[in-house]
Amino acid sequence: MSDCIFCKIAAGEIPAKKIYEDDLVVAFHDIRPVTPVHFLVIPKLHIPSMAELQPEHAEVMGRAMTVAAQVARETGCANGYRTIINTGKVGRQEVYHLHVHVVGGPEVLPAMVKY
Ligand code: 5GP
Ligand code: ZN
Repeated sequence: MSDCIFCKIAAGEIPAKKIYEDDLVVAFHDIRPVTPVHFLVIPKLHIPSMAELQPEHAEVMGRAMTVAAQVARETGCANGYRTIINTGKVGRQEVYHLHVHVVGGPEVLPAMVKY
């Protein structure tokens, strides 16, 4: 999608602090972190939201989750973290390219953070 900000990050057309990249997914730091560790994992494929997931997306979404766990280990989330996918208007999704938030750090999170 030519006007999608996360497609542009995946393609390297706009800058992002990338942490990990392979053939299917990219992980990068959120531009407005809500916790000491806050990164996003996206499929390179433009999937607008979780609501559009189809059986053929199983491989890329499996990769997204295993990469989220790997990057969490490598960025200081040894004692846990929260993993969030906001979906649609009700889910307060802002960027319509499916992404997995990982929020954490050394401290126990408040009961609710924005994500
Ligand atoms: P959503 O509410 O859609 O789940 O969250 C979108 C997230 O994307 C927000 O946490 C926001 O800070 C992040 N974000 C939006 N634009 C950019 C950008 O250009 N670069 C990066 N790194 N993060 C972004
Ligand atoms: Zn996109």
